[in-house]
Amino acid sequence: MQEVLLWLETWFRQKRDVVACLVMSTMTLPMLLLFIFMPWFALRHPEWRSIYVWNTVVMVQVVLVACALVLTGIALFSWLRRFSQRDFPALTALTVCISLTAIFTLNYSYGYKDSPLMLLGLGMMILVRALFKPKIYKPMVFVLLFLFGAAEVGFWTGSLSYAPILRTPIYTGADLLPWWSFWLRIIFVLIALPMVALFFIHGYFMRKEKRALEQLAITDSLTGISNRSYFMARLEIEGRRHARKDLPMCILMCDVDNFKRVNDAWGHAMGDDVLRAIGNILNQSVRSHHDVAARIGGEEFAVLLANMHLPQAKRVAEKIRQHLSHHIFGNAEESFQVTFSIGVAQVDNGDGARGLKLADDYLYKAKEEGRNRVAAMQLVPRATFSDAAIVE
Ligand code: GH3
Ligand code: MG
Ligand code: MG
Repeated sequence: MQEVLLWLETWFRQKRDVVACLVMSTMTLPMLLLFIFMPWFALRHPEWRSIYVWNTVVMVQVVLVACALVLTGIALFSWLRRFSQRDFPALTALTVCISLTAIFTLNYSYGYKDSPLMLLGLGMMILVRALFKPKIYKPMVFVLLFLFGAAEVGFWTGSLSYAPILRTPIYTGADLLPWWSFWLRIIFVLIALPMVALFFIHGYFMRKEKRALEQLAITDSLTGISNRSYFMARLEIEGRRHARKDLPMCILMCDVDNFKRVNDAWGHAMGDDVLRAIGNILNQSVRSHHDVAARIGGEEFAVLLANMHLPQAKRVAEKIRQHLSHHIFGNAEESFQVTFSIGVAQVDNGDGARGLKLADDYLYKAKEEGRNRVAAMQLVPRATFSDAAIVE
């Protein structure tokens, strides 16, 4: 099942013109054939025959047969070019126009309010939305809205008759012959149910796509860990939550020592490799569900340690520093190591921005004291000072 969904997803995601046209034409064709065949089936019985207005049947059949022929041509053409990556704007426009003409003809002639045809129309819109590039969808919605609006005005002013292919009482619910109930059921099963299934499949892909986009928006593209904006948002939320529950929370600010030298000596690509490795080290050093490790600048990283007191945070910082300093970079001939300076601060009263500033101040203290070290603020018991109770 998972594999089928994956296969469908790749298919839908590509939004290749030929694939879209092939699916659209092959999905529309059976419905058209069903409606082309239906009135001729009615000819077999006088009572069934009386359901139809036969002049209109002929006109509708001409339109449907013409649409079916063009769609068959489109299906064949698309099948022959099914591997093509090219854009086929004319083919796409033709497919959508012909399918919509057929669907609208059916909706209008059979009456869209009393049959599953409105569902068919909606299903078609979902199909077009799922298969084709977005620029196709908008004009289609406008054209359909216009057509349905025009039809409604026509019914209201009396210039158009509702469900002109059927004898008047049939669509009102009176006079429901077994023949008609049978066909309604067939139409429903063959059209509405696949459309509903399609709706859910499309919803599933949309949800997956949305999640992937959301993930992309909060991820740093180089290291794969969180980015600055996600860190700042979480800092504010977690700050408030921790203050409300009176829980401790700490921040680490980490900056690579003399990173410029790495870039100068080994090149920018190696510098990027170092940053990626640091992302991995940070990821491994924090608790995935509670903490946030983020790259907040070029070679600057920040870590939010939830529900953690300062002494414990200092230990985490020391662990990260040691982990990085033992990591060997380079190649078979030559290698090098890089180090971190880390500032540690505890967030006071939920003020994340101030906590970050403090951690940054301590980071610079660590740099001043000679780099490759952890500098942490010290806390004294709250009762002693009314303010932040922070001393150096
Ligand atoms: P310090 O110990 O004082 O922090 O020295 P430093 O050389 O690390 O300090 P500085 O902040 O002056 O230099 C940071 C360097 O990081 C400069 C820039 O070229 C490099 N850098 C920033 N972003 C990236 C990146 O995405 N990839 C690579 N390879 N280098 C980057
Ligand atoms: Mg640096
Ligand atoms: Mg820096």
